[in-house]
Amino acid sequence: MTVAFTQLSANLEAIAQQGLYRSRRIIDSPQGVQLQLDGRTVVNFCSNDYLGLANHPAVVDAFKTAVDQYGVGSGSAHLICGHSMPHHALEEELAAFTGRDRALLFSTGYMANLGVMSALLGRGDAVFEDKLNHASLLDGGLLSRARFKRYAHADVESLNVHLENATGNKLIVTDGVFSMDGDFAPLPALSAMAKAHDAWLMVDDAHGLGVIGEHGGGLLDYYGLKQDDVPVLMGTLGKGLGTFGAFVAGSDALIETLIQKARTYIYTTALPPAIAEATRASLKIVIAEDWRRDKLTKLADRFRLGAEQLGLQLMASASPIQPIVIGDSQQAVDISNALLHAGFLVSAIRPPTVPQGSARLRVTLSALHEEQQIDRLLDALDKATRQ
Ligand SMILES: *Cc1c(COP(=O)(O)O)cnc(C)c1O
Repeated sequence: MTVAFTQLSANLEAIAQQGLYRSRRIIDSPQGVQLQLDGRTVVNFCSNDYLGLANHPAVVDAFKTAVDQYGVGSGSAHLICGHSMPHHALEEELAAFTGRDRALLFSTGYMANLGVMSALLGRGDAVFEDKLNHASLLDGGLLSRARFKRYAHADVESLNVHLENATGNKLIVTDGVFSMDGDFAPLPALSAMAKAHDAWLMVDDAHGLGVIGEHGGGLLDYYGLKQDDVPVLMGTLGKGLGTFGAFVAGSDALIETLIQKARTYIYTTALPPAIAEATRASLKIVIAEDWRRDKLTKLADRFRLGAEQLGLQLMASASPIQPIVIGDSQQAVDISNALLHAGFLVSAIRPPTVPQGSARLRVTLSALHEEQQIDRLLDALDKATRQ
C-alpha cells in the first residue's frame, strides 16, 4: 500500500477508537414499522418516514402506473428534455400546498440547499446560520462564498448582533424542525428580525412538512407565516411525504432565478417522473389524513411520559423526533446495539452530526407504530441504559 493509504487506515483506526466509526446495516424489506435485518424482524424507531407513506399501497400504485406510462429514467436535466408532465403537476400542487406562488423540484434536499444559497449569494454578501443547522445548509453557506456567520441555537439576539455588522445581501437560514433535536426554530421572531434588517429568510422544513401544522402544511403553516414572512421555503419529499426529492417554494422571481442560476438544478438529471407521480399520491394522503398527525402527537406524548418516568434525558421536542441524550459516543453506540439485540432499531447519533458530548439515541416515531410498541421500546431502553 502507498503511504497515503496507510494514513487512511490510521485515520479510520482513530475514528473507531473515539466510538465514532459509522457503518451501514443492510435492510431486506420495504420501509415500515417492521424491518427485515440480518434475517430477523426488528421494530424500526429511526426512520424519517413519519407518516408511514414510503410503502403505502396508493403511493406504490401511483409509482407503478407512472412507470408504465413514463418509464424509469427522466433522460436529462429539467432544462434539456427531462421536465415532464408529472414534475410540472407536482410543482403546482406543492405551490398550492405551501401557499406559495411557485415551487421548483430538486433531485435531493442536499442539492436544493446548495443550489439556492449559491444562486442567491456571492462574495460581498453574508449568510447567517443557526449553529445546529443541517449539514447541507452549512455546506451551502460555505460554497456560496458569502461571509459565513453561525448564531447560537434559536437565539435571535445572537443573530441580531451579527446582522448589525453585515453588508451586502443578507440571508438568514434555519432548519424549521431541527433534524437531530426535534425542536422548532423561533420562526416568527426570525421573520421579524429579517424584515428589520432587510434580510432574506430561508427555512428548511425537511422534518416539518407533512408532519406539523394543519393538514401537514409544515412549521410555516403552524406559525401562520406567508411568503412575505419567509420568502424561501425548502422542503424534502423523502421524509414526511415518504418518497424522494425536494423542492423550493416562493415568489416567481425566486423560482426563475433558481432556474437560471442554481447549478445543482441546472446540471443534474431530473427525478424519475414516476417519483413525482408517487409524490402526488402521497401529498393527497398527507392533506386528507389528519389521523396520521394526531396519532404521532399521541405516540410522542406517551413516549415522553414514559421516558420521564424512567429518568431518561429527553429534549424539548414537540415533533416525532424524540432524542434521548446519552453524552458519550461509545455509550450511545453500546445502548443502540443492546436495543437492536432486543429487537429495536434506534440509531446512535454522534459528533460531528451533533455537538461534542451530546451523542444521543435519535428515536423517531411513525404514525404506524402501535402504543404497545412504544411501551416495549421504553422497557428495552430502561434495561439498556441501566447496564
Ligand atoms: C434530510 C435533510 C436534508 C437533505 O434532504 P435529502 O433529500 O435527503 O437530500 C436537508 N435538510 C434537512 C434539515 C434534512 O433533515
